[in-house]
Amino acid sequence: MKIICIGRNYVAHAHELGNDIPTAPVIFLKPQTALLKNNDPFYYPEISKDVHYECEVVFRIGKSGKHITEKFAHQYIDGIGLGIDFTARDLQEQQKQKGLPWEIAKAFDNSAVIGKIMSIENVDFNNIAFHLLLNDAKVQAANTNLCLFNIAKIIAYASQFFTLQQGDLIYTGTPAGVGPVQIGDKLQGYLQDELNFDFEVK
Ligand code: ZN
Repeated sequence: MKIICIGRNYVAHAHELGNDIPTAPVIFLKPQTALLKNNDPFYYPEISKDVHYECEVVFRIGKSGKHITEKFAHQYIDGIGLGIDFTARDLQEQQKQKGLPWEIAKAFDNSAVIGKIMSIENVDFNNIAFHLLLNDAKVQAANTNLCLFNIAKIIAYASQFFTLQQGDLIYTGTPAGVGPVQIGDKLQGYLQDELNFDFEVK
C-alpha cells in the first residue's frame, strides 16, 4: 500500500506557512514504513529538532482504479479515519529553500499516524468535522467543507498519475494551528466528536 498526502489544502494553513494558494492539489507520498497504528507511541526521531503535528482526515481506498472521474470517486472509498502527518519542519524548510523534495521531512518512519478506520455509511465526505487535542487543549479544529480540493477532486487528480490500490490511504491536508510536539505530549484526535486516536510522544 501507499500513502498519498495533500499539502496546502486549507487556505488558513497555507497562509500560516507563508505558501501561495495552489491551483492544483499539492501531492507527496509516504511509504508503508511511515505508518503508526493502534495508538502506539510516537518516538521523537533523532533526525529533527522541530517535529510538527498536522491533523488530517484520512480516506481508505477499497478497490483499484486509474483515471477515476470525480463523479465516481466516492465508489473507491471504503473507510475513513483521522491521522497525523508528522512533519520535520526544520528539514522541510531546508529542503524547500533548496528546491529539493520533501521526503526526508515527511516520509520518515512512523510519520503517518492513523486512527480507527470507520464505516463510511451515511457519511457526507464534504462535511466531516474534526479536531485535535494536544495535552487536552484544542489546537486544531476544522471541517472538510473548508478544503480547497475535496476528496473527489483529489482522487480524480491523483489517479491520473498513480494507480490507486486497495488499502491505500489518502491524507487530505491539515487546517491551521499546526505546531511542534515535545516528548511527553498527549495527542487525541476526534472525528465527528468521536475519539479516533489517542497516543503519546515518547
Ligand atoms: Zn499534511
